[in-house]
This record gives sequence, structure tokens and C-alpha cells, in this order.
Amino acid sequence: MLPYVALMKRLFPTALLLALLPFSALLGQDSASSPGPAETQAETPATPSSAPATASPETSDPAVSDETEDATRISVLGYHEFSATEKATEMRIPTAKFRLQMQAIKDLGLNVITLEDFIAWKQGKKTLPDRSILITIDDGWKSVYTDAYPILKEFEFPFTLFLYKNYVDGGGKALTSKMITEMQKHGASVGSHSTSHPYPSTVRKAQRKGPEEYQKFLNAEMGDSKKFLEAKFGSPIITYAYPGGFHTPEMFDTAEMVGYKHLFTVKPGKVKQDTNNMEIPRYIILGTHDSIFEYATSFRATGNSLGSAGAIIQTTPHPVTPAPGGSTEDRLPLISADLSRVEGLDPESLVMRVSGFGLVPAKFDPATKKFSWKVNRRLRKPTCDVSVQWKLQEKPDMEMPMRWTFVINREAAYQPKTAPSLPQAIQEKSNEIIPQDPENKSSN
Ligand SMILES: [Zn+2]
Repeated sequence: MLPYVALMKRLFPTALLLALLPFSALLGQDSASSPGPAETQAETPATPSSAPATASPETSDPAVSDETEDATRISVLGYHEFSATEKATEMRIPTAKFRLQMQAIKDLGLNVITLEDFIAWKQGKKTLPDRSILITIDDGWKSVYTDAYPILKEFEFPFTLFLYKNYVDGGGKALTSKMITEMQKHGASVGSHSTSHPYPSTVRKAQRKGPEEYQKFLNAEMGDSKKFLEAKFGSPIITYAYPGGFHTPEMFDTAEMVGYKHLFTVKPGKVKQDTNNMEIPRYIILGTHDSIFEYATSFRATGNSLGSAGAIIQTTPHPVTPAPGGSTEDRLPLISADLSRVEGLDPESLVMRVSGFGLVPAKFDPATKKFSWKVNRRLRKPTCDVSVQWKLQEKPDMEMPMRWTFVINREAAYQPKTAPSLPQAIQEKSNEIIPQDPENKSSN
């Protein structure tokens, strides 16, 4: 198993809480400072609520799906912008993290499908493997071409570009037609994301002008973009991603009129074959929150397959061991953070917390600038959460803690005979943990 793919989930309620708190805190913010097609906050998915950790009847009942039901579940991932150098935001993911996510999809054995596969399956013309992934990227940022595309090409993963008319060849940070055409030759499909990417307030304003004016507006946003993209990039465009996920019933009628068959929201959840085609769920993968990807790659048990846990993909701003999301066979590992790149670090202020231990007496080595603690009681849980926090000399307050999670590889650590092998343990475990995805809960 590759070190950064963790097949086990964080099981500690405290870790879950910590993961969710900053998320809700951020929901009010927007990337208004960045140029280009800034997204509305509506494009971000709803805050994952702390759903009760009890399994719903479906997970424990093997008779949930009758044999005639299609058991395939698709996770549609939604990305926006990528950057190797700029700070991560909700809508902009570090390129390195995107690569780790693609690697995780491969390591989890999930099947990445084309938009055409998705459409054929949705229309009952094709069957797909039980757990499949559709990768979509909204808006048409140039970084799709410079950062994501080389990685997708390397993994041979097909992907879908939801483009909006006014940003194609829009200059600056926008994709050019030439880039889009080239990507089409290597796995890219095109869908529509409107003409002008109107914000919900703009849509509501048009709506208030009366049905006739509103219809004109919708024809321009949905119809014109379809014609434009078809003329420019060929093939019928029958998919549409609502800008900001915002949609009204009139859009459903317009979709039928102008010829869209499959319309995507930003509401997280798995897609089933009979999921309403006007409101297809998508996991918007935020650059700043690792839990969404984990939910997206978690699958519950169905009538003919066991549940499987998703991947924890984490990156820390400073090198740490054991690696974030990585696994160790050592149940008494040395936990260490290399802080040599922290300028103005106040070593006196350093604190380390480890799940199951609380505050631990970690030591700072002034020579190596490593802050380390050797675990002194065998780790018994499948995962271990660490947080390291410090203060800068000239600042009064502690900095935000650096957190990560690593996995204890119990296959190696457990005594034989009595313990199940790790993959089996994961499958058994996954039924209890996956209901943390609020959407899975309602869509199954
Ligand atoms: Zn958008």
C-alpha cells in the first residue's frame, strides 16, 4: 500500500469535530479577492452535519437492494482551480494534493468513467462497475490545462469540463479553445456551465421581471451556451452544471426545451441509476477540506458489494512522520515534525497532542529543529491523530495547529490467527463509519 493512501478513517469524534469546525466557519467566505470567475458560496456543498454515527437500516441489512436494482454508485467529483504555488482556498486545490487524490482513486481500485459512459449508464444503455468516479471541472480556468491535465493524462483518467461561454478564450486565467480542443483528444468531454455564470442574485433579479423576461434570460444562459459550445467543440452538449449549484423549477423546463438531459448540482451524494436527472449530486472537492474527498471515495454496502472506506488525503505545511494519511507497522512510532522552515518559531511555545494520549512531552531539538515524541504505549486504535501547535516570537497568539492522521497497519502488528486481515477489517469497519456522510445517508 502506498504511504499516503489510508484505507482507514479517523474514528475519533474529537478529530471529526475539529475537521468540521473550521469548515462551517469558512462557509461565509468567498474567493472574492481572486480574479476571474469567483464562485458564489452556494457552489460549496452544505456543511457536513455531524450525523449520528449509527448505521442506517440499509447498511446493516443485506437485503437492501433487490436483485433487479442497479447497484452501481457513482461519485461525481467537482473541481475548479489548481495551483502549485498559490495558497489553497475552497475553490483552489494545491496541485500536489490533486495528484495524491488521483493516486488514491487508482489505489482504491475505483473506476473512472467518461461523461459518455455516465450518460449511457444513466439512460440504462450500459452497465458500469459498482463504484465509479466521474471527474468534473467547472468554469474553465487555465490551471486545468497547466496543472490538472498533465496528471489526468498520466493516470489516463477521463474528465469533464463544464465551461461557460463568456469565459472560453476570456484571456488572463481562462482556458483557450486551443487548450480545450487538445484536451478533448486526451479524455476531456465538454458540458455547459451557462453563458455568463450568473450569481443567484442575478437569477432572482431576472425572475422578478416576470415569466417572459425570465424565460428569455434562461434561454440566453442555457440555450445560447449549448449552441456556442456545440459549434466550437462539436458533439451534442446534453449536460449542464448549474452555476453555484443554484436552480429553479423553470430551469428544468428550459433544460427540456433546449435539450439538456443531465443537470448537475453541488449537493454532495452518490448517484444511482434512478437519481433525478435534473438534480444530480456532486462532491465539490474543496482545496481546504480533506473530508469531502474522503466522503466521495467512501462507498456503502449494496446488495452485491461490501462497503469500502474512502481515502484520507492530507498534506501538512511542514514535513512530518509518520506521513499524513500514511501507514506504519510500528505501534510505538516516533512522531516528529520538522519545523526548520518556520521563521521566528518560539520553541518554548511548542505543544503536541496525540489522540488517546492528550498533551504529550514532545522535545524540540535546536540542531535539527525537529519536534518529536516517541509513543510510549502501544497504539491500539486503527488511526492516530496528531496536532502540533506553536507561537511565533513576535506574535502574541498561538498559530493554527498543524494536524495530521496516520494509520496503524494492524495486519502487520496484530498477532496472527485471532485477527482478521486488514482489508476485511476495513470492510467491516466501513459500515459503521460511512454514515458520517450526510448525503449518503439520504440518497441510499
Ligand atoms: Zn462555476
